[in-house]
Amino acid sequence: MRHGTTNGARQESGVGPEAARRRSFAVISHPDAGKSTLTEALALHAHAITEAGHINGKSGRRHTVSDWMEMEQARGISITSASLQFDYRDTVINLLDTPGHADFSEDTYRVLSAVDAAVMLIDAAKGLEAQTMKLFAVCKHRGIPLITVINKWDRPGLDALALMDEITERTGLTPTPLDWPVGVAGDFRGVLDRRTGNYVQFTPSAGGAHVAPQETFEPSAAAEREGVLWTTAVEESELLAASGADYDQESFLAGVSTPVLFASAVRNFGVHALLDVLVDLAPSPGPRPSVSGEPRAVDSPFSAFVFKMQAGMDTAHRDRLAFIRVCSGLFERGMVVTSARTGRPFATKYAQQAFGRERTVIDTAYPGDVVGLVNGSDLRVGDTLYFDKAVEYPPLPTFAPEHFAVVRAKDAGKYKQFRRGVAQLEAEGVVQVLRSDLRGDQAPVLAAVGPMQFEVAEHRMAMEFNSPVRLERLEYTVAMRTTKDWVAALNAERGVEVLHREDGELLALFPNSWRIASVRRNHPGAVLEPPVAA
Ligand code: GDP
Repeated sequence: MRHGTTNGARQESGVGPEAARRRSFAVISHPDAGKSTLTEALALHAHAITEAGHINGKSGRRHTVSDWMEMEQARGISITSASLQFDYRDTVINLLDTPGHADFSEDTYRVLSAVDAAVMLIDAAKGLEAQTMKLFAVCKHRGIPLITVINKWDRPGLDALALMDEITERTGLTPTPLDWPVGVAGDFRGVLDRRTGNYVQFTPSAGGAHVAPQETFEPSAAAEREGVLWTTAVEESELLAASGADYDQESFLAGVSTPVLFASAVRNFGVHALLDVLVDLAPSPGPRPSVSGEPRAVDSPFSAFVFKMQAGMDTAHRDRLAFIRVCSGLFERGMVVTSARTGRPFATKYAQQAFGRERTVIDTAYPGDVVGLVNGSDLRVGDTLYFDKAVEYPPLPTFAPEHFAVVRAKDAGKYKQFRRGVAQLEAEGVVQVLRSDLRGDQAPVLAAVGPMQFEVAEHRMAMEFNSPVRLERLEYTVAMRTTKDWVAALNAERGVEVLHREDGELLALFPNSWRIASVRRNHPGAVLEPPVAA
């Protein structure tokens, strides 16, 4: 009983410095911007892996990431990776995965509640894309500091200054480039390091497989080497300085400005710079506000919250991983912690780190780290776990669903299993469940941020709850929060329907935003608000 006798103060000694050397972040981007490539490159630079491709190789792309679920294998995508941890300089970096292709789901948003910073990865040719904007909105709401990386600068793309304008206009953030490209997109020579004024020249490496060599030159040597390309970069950088686009730590941490780097993940350009920015500028884990309003210091006794549940990775064992982010104290495998929601003890005998299919046993973890707890069936997304001194963190928000489907049991005789399964998936946050008197209990509406959530639900209903279901997609794409007084009027509108969610919200579903506008015209006073999360 190692912990029974341990006194809280002694146990937590050393936690402060360990927390201070941690950086936990996620990448927000649109599919194909280069997130997987960047992840590989980051790990490569940090020497977590020996050659890019180990995590997600060119041949057998994504094959190695995960094949835990049958459907994953069938679709060749990963829905199960959680976080990658590696050392860089004297820092421990946790990169939390934000699933982003067809596997985009509520989990993708929830991950953002478990990070201290985010990297907004933008394709130089495309600028800010839809999924990036959605994830940005969540970061903004939570006040998460953002580092912007303009990727694929080795390929023809937009003008660098135009990209800065786009960031300003569409995100409201002030971009503060830390470096500035020498050479336009498609002719990437290197960058002007705006903090030192020096030229960092890149040399392409074969296929981007190994760490790209880079050399630094004084401005005069840079001018000699690059001529007008260098003077253009210097001029543009001065223009930026004059418009107040120089880096400012305070406004970065406040989520008001965003440092910008230019990179080519596939060629390993700028990856090193990003790691240095994470270490030097990004915040370490800080005190987390609890429901009582009192923040819990990182060196308080252990506490964590569940930000993601993973089920069905092994259908034979039905193991369920609960991914927690440590908020305070030292986590030691084997410790018995308490779930704040149920008050019940939870033994952490099986604790793992998981990235892709690779899982390693974790013995200790500190604030900012991610731990996968096996046998987490009693746990739910948003649950707080603590040791010694009780604490409860605010529940994780739910997000605006954009996909809707009626679910029915294929076999009406299995209604009990059906109900139990739906309730479980709802409790775990796999899907949101919307109900109305009109539709009745036998055919509730499942609502999701991404369509993959439906597939997970369908798969689990059959495999785990022994109640195969039929899903019928509905035409709605937007949900708006409304109030009781408006239910009748809205239900009377063509193509509109009001349902209630378990948390008490009334959601009015619309086929598209034009329909919302026309309903608003019919009912000028109607309460219709975006249900974006707290
Ligand atoms: P993800 O969907 O965001 O994970 O994107 P991937 O990392 O899978 O990259 C999508 C495609 O863009 C792949 O073909 C990559 O090889 C390519 N790519 C990624 N980064 C770069 C880059 O810096 N330059 C170029 N030219 N291609 C890149």
